[in-house]
Amino acid sequence: MTAPAALSDIPVTQLKGVAARLAERLATLHIHTVQDLLFHLPSRYQDRTRIAAIGRVRLGDDVMLEADILSCELDFGRRRSLVCKIKDASGIISLRFFHFSAAQKKMLAPGNRLRCYGEIRSGKNGYEIYHPEYQVLRPDEMSPVADRLTPIYPATDGLQQTRLRKLIDQALAYLQLPASLPDWIPAETLHQFAYPSLADALEYLHHPPVQAPVAQLLAGEHPAQQRLAFEELLSHRLCLRRLRQQSAQLLAPVMRAQNKLSQAFLKQLPFTLTQAQARVCGEISQDLTLDQPMLRLLQGDVGSGKTVVAALAALQAVDSGYQAVIMAPTEILAEQHLANFTQWLAPLGLQPGWLSGKVKGRQRQQTLQALQDGSSRIAVGTHALFQDGVEFNRLGLIIIDEQHRFGVHQRLALREKGNNGEGIPHQLVMTATPIPRTLAMSAYADLDCSVLDELPPGRTPVNTVIISNERRDNVIERIHQACLQGNQAYWVCTLIEESESLQCQAAEATLAALQAQLPDLAIGLVHGRMKATEKSAVMSAFKQGGLHLLVATTVIEVGVDVPNASLMIIENPERLGLAQLHQLRGRVGRGAKASHCLLLYQTPLSQIGKQRLGIMRDSNDGFYIAEQDLAIRGPGQVLGTRQTGLMSFRIADLVRDAALLDPVKSTADKFEQEYSSHIDPLVNRWLGDRELYGNV
Ligand code: ADP
Ligand code: MG
Repeated sequence: MTAPAALSDIPVTQLKGVAARLAERLATLHIHTVQDLLFHLPSRYQDRTRIAAIGRVRLGDDVMLEADILSCELDFGRRRSLVCKIKDASGIISLRFFHFSAAQKKMLAPGNRLRCYGEIRSGKNGYEIYHPEYQVLRPDEMSPVADRLTPIYPATDGLQQTRLRKLIDQALAYLQLPASLPDWIPAETLHQFAYPSLADALEYLHHPPVQAPVAQLLAGEHPAQQRLAFEELLSHRLCLRRLRQQSAQLLAPVMRAQNKLSQAFLKQLPFTLTQAQARVCGEISQDLTLDQPMLRLLQGDVGSGKTVVAALAALQAVDSGYQAVIMAPTEILAEQHLANFTQWLAPLGLQPGWLSGKVKGRQRQQTLQALQDGSSRIAVGTHALFQDGVEFNRLGLIIIDEQHRFGVHQRLALREKGNNGEGIPHQLVMTATPIPRTLAMSAYADLDCSVLDELPPGRTPVNTVIISNERRDNVIERIHQACLQGNQAYWVCTLIEESESLQCQAAEATLAALQAQLPDLAIGLVHGRMKATEKSAVMSAFKQGGLHLLVATTVIEVGVDVPNASLMIIENPERLGLAQLHQLRGRVGRGAKASHCLLLYQTPLSQIGKQRLGIMRDSNDGFYIAEQDLAIRGPGQVLGTRQTGLMSFRIADLVRDAALLDPVKSTADKFEQEYSSHIDPLVNRWLGDRELYGNV
């Protein structure tokens, strides 16, 4: 044999019995190399170390049986099937096959003995096993039982468990070769956390011994699994750090902290900054004075006053001769920013530019021209701001609101776009969805973090009530009374997000029904398909008190600010994420009045649904709500990363493994100092093939 190769370089086709077709199937499981096979871990385990007695099996058990075949007959029930009765000393049970070949039927002849494995279900005449795995034994054959737990792997069409097991056994044999799979976690770290070595961990997980703690393995909490989760999280963290270090070597525009524009702005602001705002503004202002690009995440609950913070940062950039852009994910939020900025900046003699997908023709040309020649100092808009054809004169600061909808790579791509010889623009990312600490530590480890942990004075907490849709008429009457007493209310229609047009139809139908039921109220409608001018006409009518009730789709989730509105009804709240519900609810409770939010759910409500709405009722704290949502729904849902592919771990699970994050952090420090040569190979092992972490 030649010099031992790293297992990450050995393609699966080198294994016995792997031809092109099988290699293709393996590729659909992201298995290309021998190393990939080793890291393809079982999703669960079966116990085939014992033969169960038929008389003692229980519904739902996974069991192995050994018995004689009594009969084997076709059953012409609703669906044709082959039923094979088997008997051991303790009882009789049926095996049922919906798909079977003639050869199979022949093998299952009465008098033969077989060993089978499967789950106990309840059938027509007592317990049955559907499609058991089985093996017909020769007369007097004493087939040994398994001496360890049987791993069950994530598989794919045309790739059976037995096949996968054999391949993985071949891969495990390679582990015996020296240096085939280096363990990048040093011995002292393994010792510190009582982790097994990499080879031992993999060997154990693919071949757990009989006495292995099955429950712990199934929960993913065995030290062998934890070691791998730790290694994976560590590699992510090291990778994000590396991005960050690369970023720190780039040059960014230097902006002076003390500046006339910010001072003038603060002077004409009708309120004083909260302490939290003042602190965060200081942190940002300091970053902007440095010659390396800021990458800062600003987290603040709904209504905590992020917009003012953004305005101050923008003014610092403008005062130093740079341009600043504020980008929002939706038209309506961007419009709200535009309204705020226009009002705030007019006294300073600044007129923000406006760019969204809907700005066309001459107006668009003018905006583009002004951005390019630098006459426009501040621009507000949607991601239209970063499309081809948009050029900046001296872009110094990019502010992104509601960032959690974007991934790391999009963030960095934006920044690249802004790079036009003046250095890399600073970047401020604002999110109203508080990001649980665990996620912030991993998904956003490349960002500095500022938190607005204080609401402006004079807010009254919203009282939230959960009501069944069966009591809709009561709810409507309650709104009626409240509106007659001078209150204003939102009625939010929700539907699955994908279909904006269905959502708008639902809102229109709701409007019609409410108008019929409440003829003495003035009711308006706002949804995403209306023209901007129509939308703003309705919004301003509502704001000025001309409408009692505003029926809306979730477009009002962000930005809308009507202090007199003190009542909100959210239909089908069970369909929304808690963070989004919290955002919506943040539209009320903005004034001095006691506010109420009614969550009008559709029956029946699932157990989890109840639990989630209960969290909304019991808390007004966005951070707490996000933590709970994370625990219930998992990080992909909470961050919306299913779409962006940002955070997908192979083994780690941020909820289950949250306790690993602190040790991962300190180990990452240690790697930087003492094991820096391990960093690249470790990151490559876990993230090497992902373009996300590619050359940025
Ligand atoms: P969010 O963080 O949700 O974006 P906004 O920036 O929209 O919050 O601010 C919510 C409301 O609070 C706005 O009407 C804003 O003018 C007001 N506001 C912001 N900061 C203060 C403050 N320090 N004192 C009083 N009101 C404030
Ligand atoms: Mg906001």
